This record gives sequence, C-alpha cells and structure tokens, in this order.
Amino acid sequence: MYNDVIKEMEKYAEEKNVPIMQKKSMNFLCKFIEKNNIKSVLEIGTAIGYSAINMALVNDDISVVSIERDQEKYIEAIKNIKKCNLEKRITLILSDALNIELNNKYDLIFIDAAKGQYTNFFNKYKDNLVDDGFIVSDNIDFHGYVENVDKIENRNLRQLVSKLRKYIDFLKDNEEYNTKFYKVGDGLAITYKKGVLNE
Ligand code: SAH
Ligand code: MG
Repeated sequence: MYNDVIKEMEKYAEEKNVPIMQKKSMNFLCKFIEKNNIKSVLEIGTAIGYSAINMALVNDDISVVSIERDQEKYIEAIKNIKKCNLEKRITLILSDALNIELNNKYDLIFIDAAKGQYTNFFNKYKDNLVDDGFIVSDNIDFHGYVENVDKIENRNLRQLVSKLRKYIDFLKDNEEYNTKFYKVGDGLAITYKKGVLNE
C-alpha cells in the first residue's frame, strides 16, 4: 500500500515539477535515521509529504513535524499522509518556518526549504535540537551550481547559489558544530554538535 502511494507521489512530483528528494539521498537519509535510532524529526519544507512519509516509515515509533508555507502543497501532503494512515505520526504546520516558534526538541532537523535561507533556518532551529542530535541539509550541491557560482548568468540564481555557498562556509567554519558533506543525490550535509560523538 505504501509503495503505491510513494510511486504516485513520485509521478505527481515529476509532472508538477515538485522538487522532492532524490531517491538515492532519500534512501541514505532513511538508513541514517535507522542507524542512529532517530525517533523525532523536524522537517522544514514538506512539499507534498514525500520525505516526511519516507522518514516516518523507517520505524513505527518515529514522529515527524513538518513545516510548509505553500497551501496547495500542504493540502496535497495532508491527502498523502492520510492515504498512508500516518496522521498520528506526521504533524504538518502551514506557515513560513521563519515566522513561528517551536518549543520541542528533536533528534533530527531536516532542512529542505528555500535554499537562500538555510543559515536562517539553522540559526532559528538549532536550539530545537537535542544535544546529540543531527541537522541534515539537502541540495547542498544544488545541481552542481555551487561549485560554479561564477558561471551562472541569471542574477537571482547566482544570488541564491552564493547564499548556499555562504551556508556551506558557515558550516565548515563553525566553532560549535562539525559537518560532514556527502555527494549523494543533490548533496547532503550532516551537522552535529562538537564533542558529543566519540571520534
Ligand atoms: N522535503 C520535501 C521537498 C521540499 S521542496 C521532499 O523531499 O519531499 C521545498 C519546499 O519548501 C517547498 O514546498 C516550499 O514551498 C517550501 N518552503 C520554502 N521556503 C519555506 C519557508 N520559509 N517555510 C516553509 N516552507 C518553505
Ligand atoms: Mg531537497
């Protein structure tokens, strides 16, 4: 049953140009969630619920809170979550993530919304992370543009990519957090507090 809904979502995303996570990085993230015994996830950028559903399906004691600002996508996500009977474990919030405050702490925060705002999302939500939690950022390579900022002719795109570039530097130079970068899918960054992992 889940498989059919997931396939339907992949088809819908393709037809309507919804930038859902690539399959390889989706699988990578699900394995990471399993391996690290993640039980609670905060997602920024639900779109139609594809990644929220996939993460919730890793284990039946996982709960996901996900924020989406676009009403049409939010409604589509609600429908998909119902089809999978996951309403009890996935909570959606219709809002701009930069305009709300959450009080809970989560094992994993997944940043996958406006690429120019990643530093703002990080700073806004880092205190909603448990001490030994992880912040995962998607699309860190942004179709290869990040490596080639100077070659981008479109000004808006160049500005967006240079903000993403600054986010990468912010992660690399961070005194409080360590980050590992993975060339999987469209590029993933996994960030955690320094000194909490035995390495
Ligand atoms: N995580 C999804 C894909 C998200 S696409 C998946 O892999 O299935 C990015 C989504 O972030 C879009 O739907 C967009 O509307 C939403 N978004 C962008 N900026 C946002 C913001 N500031 N607050 C909330 N949602 C935002
Ligand atoms: Mg993404």
